[in-house]
Amino acid sequence: MHKGTEAPFSGEYDNFFKKGTYVCRRCGLPLYKSDSKFDAHCGWPAFDTEIAGAVKHVMPDFTHKMLGAADELECARCGAHLGHLFKGEGFTKTDERHCVNSISMKFIPEKKDDDGK
Ligand SMILES: [Zn+2]
Repeated sequence: MHKGTEAPFSGEYDNFFKKGTYVCRRCGLPLYKSDSKFDAHCGWPAFDTEIAGAVKHVMPDFTHKMLGAADELECARCGAHLGHLFKGEGFTKTDERHCVNSISMKFIPEKKDDDGK
């Protein structure tokens, strides 16, 4: 098992579509908005874009490069491993799939002051 990668379809945020923000589990930096989350059926939470500046892109290791990963994703503040970025799959208009481990993030629900939905 690869360091920091959970088994597919096991993570608490894989099949999870509430409104809010996903923050770094280690340092609390907001990483992804629920608006950019989509169901890629890949077994891990998938986002089509990150919060600007929150995610650092580094070279993936050999195994993930062979799997087609464009970048490895890390928290820009604390360097925690988040997941991997895949490009050119055509899932959404950004054509990016940020494949992120549930265990790397914590979900903060959106405040509901408006219409309570
Ligand atoms: Zn962090």
